Amino acid sequence: MSHCILNSNSKVEGLSNSPGIISEVMNLLMEKQIGIIQLPCPEMVVYGIKRWGHVREQFDTLFFREKCQDIIKPITYQLLDYVKNGYKVIGIIGVDGSPSCGVNLTCSGDWGGEFLGNIDVLNKVTQLSQVES
Ligand code: SF4
Repeated sequence: MSHCILNSNSKVEGLSNSPGIISEVMNLLMEKQIGIIQLPCPEMVVYGIKRWGHVREQFDTLFFREKCQDIIKPITYQLLDYVKNGYKVIGIIGVDGSPSCGVNLTCSGDWGGEFLGNIDVLNKVTQLSQVES
């Protein structure tokens, strides 16, 4: 499960609609007695809590990709061990709209550069879009 479903504090500041945990998802999983592995938040790991909102194109760097592979490795090992021992992995829950965790949708656009002096910021923001991951 994407990190911020269990800890929405990891989201870009001001973007979370929930105070700390997305309870609808958790209630459902608890009702069905489904175990959860919380994935690391790649954006938090690389950029921290003070990051701006990004688009997919900004994170598409060799460093970010390598970091994602590093932090997911121990989780992959855990999953393989569960499967080896007869457990079933029934799904992955991501966050549509996220440039890092969007499963069906991600945030895309021509975005970057310096804020100061960029008089076209609002125009640029309105051109950002949600596209298929
Ligand atoms: S990168 Fe993923 S886990 Fe982190 S805040 Fe965005 S959607 Fe949530």
